[in-house]
Amino acid sequence: MRVLVTGAAGFLGSHLTDRFLADGHAVVGMDNFITGRPENLAHLARHEGFSFVRHDVSTPFAVDGPLDGVLHLASPASPVDYLEHPIETLRVGAHGTDHALALALAKGARFFIASTSEVYGDPQVHPQPESYWGHVNPVGPRSCYDEAKRFAEALTMAYHRAHGVDTRIVRIFNTYGPRMRPDDGRVVSNFVVQALRGEPITIYGDGSQTRSFCYVDDEVEGLYRLFLHGTPEPTNVGNPAEYTVRQLAERVAALTGTRSEVVYRDLPVDDPRVRRPDITRARETLGWEPRVPLDEGLRRTIDYFAARLASAE
Ligand code: NAD
Ligand code: UDP
Repeated sequence: MRVLVTGAAGFLGSHLTDRFLADGHAVVGMDNFITGRPENLAHLARHEGFSFVRHDVSTPFAVDGPLDGVLHLASPASPVDYLEHPIETLRVGAHGTDHALALALAKGARFFIASTSEVYGDPQVHPQPESYWGHVNPVGPRSCYDEAKRFAEALTMAYHRAHGVDTRIVRIFNTYGPRMRPDDGRVVSNFVVQALRGEPITIYGDGSQTRSFCYVDDEVEGLYRLFLHGTPEPTNVGNPAEYTVRQLAERVAALTGTRSEVVYRDLPVDDPRVRRPDITRARETLGWEPRVPLDEGLRRTIDYFAARLASAE
């Protein structure tokens, strides 16, 4: 196969690119580096199956040659990033998704959109099955991301119904691991970098809110299987093991052996209270479930950031 991956220079896009290449497929990567980094793709500079185009997918684009898949991952994903780039986030969810879908239609390619657990908002059903319609503030600060992704899902289903495009929608739950930016602001990268630097670990609110953290290798395997073997219905891919943010801080502190103090900061507006995927569909349709427990994934992530911080000094 030959596939296009938008957002290829990002955290998940670069790992998913590696996954396709590892199976002998060819990948065209596209990215404008708004939140991604060339270094995430540096190891592929001489890979004959990989090519790269620097482009903002919110503006129209074409790709020469045949394509079997269009995987649209381009979008700021960290709350810090999308709050800094709200209009770009809405544009890439709307125009970017439209351009990617039109390309898939023109090429007869399968389309895959990286959606998010944020479509469930601050959920009133727990854990969240795909059948839950969500509880989203349409005008709050997070709406630039949540509504962009909800629109992207709706547009994907419209192309599927109106034009018969073979589509996949994955709702990704909090994923962590190597290649996150040290400053991207998400909780795992923040806590690990703070602990390694001996800086205060910043818990927002009282830390009783929960998240369910999936290690990147597990997540990418789920995405890959969904692309190959899934169905057009949205599919949750995440790790159902749920932790409070305070428990996460304790695990990071224990595994790094840090002397960092814990400090409490204001809870961001509309920060979801709880989040945990119901992964029955992924288990049944893809034979997928996560394998890497939190401590093991954190150890690998800590090793990555420790090496990065050491080489930056
Ligand atoms: P990331 O910020 O590391 O990667 C996103 C990539 O998209 C970056 O390389 C960025 O430069 C690129 N990009 C953004 N706008 C673009 C544009 N207009 N044109 C071209 N490139 C553009 O984030 P990530 O964690 O790798 O997330 C990847 C996808 O997965 C996103 O769509 C995100 O919404 C989704 N997702 C991720 C998570 C997670 O926990 N990592 C959770 C839910 C959903
Ligand atoms: N969070 C925190 N300290 C940080 C960063 C985040 O306590 O330094 C909290 C945040 O308020 C949220 C959870 O950790 O409750 C997950 O935040 P993240 O930004 O990683 O992703 P979200 O799930 O909110 O999109």
